[in-house]
Amino acid sequence: MKTELLMIGTELLLGQIQDTNSTWISQVLAEHGIDCFQKTTVGDNRARILGALDAGLTRSDVILCSGGLGPTEDDITRESIAALLDRPLVFRPELYGAILERFAVLQRAPTENNKKQAALPEGAIPIENPHGTAPGLIVEDPRGIIICMPGVPHELKPMLVERVLPWLKKRFGIGGVLYSRVLKVCGVGESRIDAEIGDLMNAHSNPTIGLLASPEFVRIRLTAKAPTENEARALIEPVARAVYDRLPGQIMGEGDDTLEEKTAGLLRDRGHTISVIETFTGGMIAQRLLLADPARVTEGVILGPGSREYNTENFVDLGRNHMLRSGAIAALVCTYSAVDATARVFFITPGEHTTWDLPVAGSGIRAQVRLTVSILEQLRRHLILQ
Ligand code: ATP
Ligand code: MG
Repeated sequence: MKTELLMIGTELLLGQIQDTNSTWISQVLAEHGIDCFQKTTVGDNRARILGALDAGLTRSDVILCSGGLGPTEDDITRESIAALLDRPLVFRPELYGAILERFAVLQRAPTENNKKQAALPEGAIPIENPHGTAPGLIVEDPRGIIICMPGVPHELKPMLVERVLPWLKKRFGIGGVLYSRVLKVCGVGESRIDAEIGDLMNAHSNPTIGLLASPEFVRIRLTAKAPTENEARALIEPVARAVYDRLPGQIMGEGDDTLEEKTAGLLRDRGHTISVIETFTGGMIAQRLLLADPARVTEGVILGPGSREYNTENFVDLGRNHMLRSGAIAALVCTYSAVDATARVFFITPGEHTTWDLPVAGSGIRAQVRLTVSILEQLRRHLILQ
């Protein structure tokens, strides 16, 4: 089954509202393994809606539309479909009854315009809209299927998930489930990961392997299609294991795991409490560890170039002093040199210390976040080997 999207609304073209509906619909379709090949946006203009629907039917089996089902003059989606398919608009008393009931619940009076919302192209299947007045509609034609949903997101979302998807699955005999598992890698670029597992990505089609980068981490998403979730998990398992083997020690976690939770968890397992002394990252490291496990942090100290401690010759001693003073069992001192754009990080425990030099790329808050992530990741990898 080939689908495409038609977003209807002049506000979308003027940039007055953001088209979150199409992003959301695309995600849901992808999660259900339904192919979506094109997206079109048109204003509230009959000729252009007709043109877009006409073109869509030449390419796709199903066009999913959003917007223009309201009661006002500029809501012309229903009329446009009726004109395109050469079917009259038929007033459906039972739909008008539901609209009147909705108004009664809201203690508001309907206007004459609301009658319009109860008129559908002949032969259309109405879709109940418990969250608004306008029913959605499905029209099956020899040329293809047109499905219209309201533009208002909280009306559209339940309609798509609860009504439209089950209808499409039944109509096209789509069975089974799509299940995804997400592995997360921190502090390594997308291209680096691609170089390590690119051949696995090409070799597998069930599960598929996709990469998605963000400032925090690269997500490796493995998605399998199977009759049941358990079977999908079983298909993913050996491929996930192969990815773990290719990236030894580099996978921070899976699913909703966060870097600070993983790192704080290891601090906890090793019995560490920690004094965190930061310069460039301005407290972000302490903030995140504190969020993940407040009991791990004895203090967070931000040193600026104006302070005496910032200019010390010996950061290890500085860390030790803070550690003793705050009653911590370890200290993390994160310094920065603008000369070579490098952060020097000291992880200090009573008997020993470890030093890492990490490059700092870019500037501003993004650079702070990136450095925070690489320091927390470095600490995580260090603690895992302890
Ligand atoms: P109504 O009955 O409210 O008129 P409708 O089905 O006619 O609903 P529109 O008039 O096109 O829908 O849009 C109503 C509102 O829904 C918009 O003002 C906007 O807030 C929101 N909306 C419409 N389209 C989108 C979209 N593609 N993405 C996100 N929000 C949207
Ligand atoms: Mg409207």
